[in-house]
Amino acid sequence: MTKGNINVSVENIFPLIKKFLYSDHEIFLRELISNATDATLKLKHLTSIGEAKVEYGNPKLEVKIDKEQKTLHIIDQGIGMTGEEVEKYINQVAFSGAEEFLEKYKDTAKDSGIIGHFGLGFYSAFMVAEKVEILTKSYKDEPAVRWICDGSPEFTLEETDKAERGTEIILHIAEDSVEFLEEGKIRELLLKYNKFMPVPIKFGTKTHTLPLPEDAPEDAVAETEEVDNIINNPAPAWTIAPSDLTNEDYMKFYHELYPMQFEEPLFHIHLNVDYPFNLTGVLFFPKLSNNLNIDKDKIQLYQNQVFVTDEVKGIVPDFLMLLRGVIDSPDIPLNVSRSYLQADGAVKKISSYITKKVADKMASLINENREDYEKKWNDIKVVIEYGIVTEEKFAEKADKFTLYPTTDGKYYLWNELVEKIKSAQTDKDNKLVVLYATNADEQHSYIQAARDKGYEVLLLDSPIISHVIQKLETSKENISFARVDADHINNLIKKDEPVFSKLNETEKEALKKNVEEAIQDTKFTVQLEDLDSNDAPFTITQPEFMRRMKEMQATGGGGMFGMGGFPEMYNLVVNSNSELSNQILKTENSEEKESLIKHALDLAKLSQNLLKGKDLTDFIQRSYKQLEK
Ligand code: ADP
Repeated sequence: MTKGNINVSVENIFPLIKKFLYSDHEIFLRELISNATDATLKLKHLTSIGEAKVEYGNPKLEVKIDKEQKTLHIIDQGIGMTGEEVEKYINQVAFSGAEEFLEKYKDTAKDSGIIGHFGLGFYSAFMVAEKVEILTKSYKDEPAVRWICDGSPEFTLEETDKAERGTEIILHIAEDSVEFLEEGKIRELLLKYNKFMPVPIKFGTKTHTLPLPEDAPEDAVAETEEVDNIINNPAPAWTIAPSDLTNEDYMKFYHELYPMQFEEPLFHIHLNVDYPFNLTGVLFFPKLSNNLNIDKDKIQLYQNQVFVTDEVKGIVPDFLMLLRGVIDSPDIPLNVSRSYLQADGAVKKISSYITKKVADKMASLINENREDYEKKWNDIKVVIEYGIVTEEKFAEKADKFTLYPTTDGKYYLWNELVEKIKSAQTDKDNKLVVLYATNADEQHSYIQAARDKGYEVLLLDSPIISHVIQKLETSKENISFARVDADHINNLIKKDEPVFSKLNETEKEALKKNVEEAIQDTKFTVQLEDLDSNDAPFTITQPEFMRRMKEMQATGGGGMFGMGGFPEMYNLVVNSNSELSNQILKTENSEEKESLIKHALDLAKLSQNLLKGKDLTDFIQRSYKQLEK
């Protein structure tokens, strides 16, 4: 038996480890299972190259709780260690790892931005154990050994009689960590960190019902047997080549990843790069329309199939945070703060790779099945639009897969839209005018009016649409967007034949004065227009620019913060060719004239959803009176 002192500069490192990582004690299990997995895969490698002359077989790991002894056991059938190796790897390598870790994170450990705590390894066992035992037998023909350490730098190492190859780590759980002797707790941790690790992990047994023989009598009772309960899926979808997977496989994986999600995702994106960095993964587009449960079921980050975190901000571009799935990359630096992460070159590359890959996938989806893509558009548009606004690289590609739906249910790609409207919807400067509505019900009368004129009206109803439009107007040449109720609609659209004016200039001036005096409201600017006599007599329009700025301010971003206080402004467009205008001019009695104008204004307000409260009540009462006349 050897007794010895571990050579460290700190007198007792363990209380320190415990203190620094107080919030994350649970990661000890991930670390120990990672070691056990490594030991198993190392053996696989050594047998495959003929270095280890043993049968590899079908090794598994096992996690076992012994409540009576208050111990937790992590058992593997991997390469094991000789006494010499324990001295070297445990007493020296592992320990120096722990020391280095503490040195490095002394100052930053309290920074909540630290992702994961990789690198602490074996010694994280002392966060929950008062004594740790290692029983190990190397694949080499050497005696098994037993190492024990109680958390002080002193240890003992002796030969023991373990027969099977591999390592068993026994944690004597400390008083303050007894939760780790609960089956439920350990199961939870295994499912959180180890659900997709590459070596099967046994945790207890389960009862398996054997099938009845075909000729069994009706009242026969099926026999049962106890089988290993394997808690993980060692070959999750992202580790398999896409060509070997069916759509069902991806769906099955999705439900495995998010057991509480019952809805199928819309589609998946398989990620796979090995140069200049290593990254695999599968992303899913969930149906977003219903409820946005973004806090749960987020994208998960793995390293070599070990769960690290589901805080992937910085690694995944913001606009894709609504997606679900897995990213596995050993190349993402983890023991760093988030601000560092965002500035890191490798991480930036990963983020732009994901962006590009998603864009390419969208382009191929729409090409493969346009009809299906159109059906899904409503569920994916928010993500795409958010991407257009925030990621230049994504915006550049977006014309290939961004759809512009119309109020009558058609879907155009940008090129198709331009083709469709280029002859009819241009303004006097030959700029293309894209007409759109944001709410089919509220803007119904305006949509109707524009459609009657033969114009295409898009239905752009997502919350960030004003940002998208702003972006499109600056990135594309010679186009402008105008909502159907925007002020300049009549001016913007080039009219083939100018409308004849029924009133002369003096009459027009009189009409304008009449209306202004009657309404007495500074929010409204009265504008006379020679419209078709069938067009509405009074129409309220909103300056496109003002309205859009206000909306952008409300949805944030775009440098609009703090620019508050856009005034409410409307135009009252009076159709000088309408019968009502004629009537107003003809009416002699000033009271009658005023009530005519007010009533018409109320009607115009109604169609813009602006008539509310007392004004609405008065309007209704007045209307009834008129009916009774
Ligand atoms: P790391 O795994 O980062 O190298 P650890 O402190 O976790 O650091 O472990 C130190 C070393 O101890 C490992 O590199 C490995 O050689 C050895 N080791 C740990 N656990 C096992 C195990 N279950 N079987 C065989 N060797 C192990």
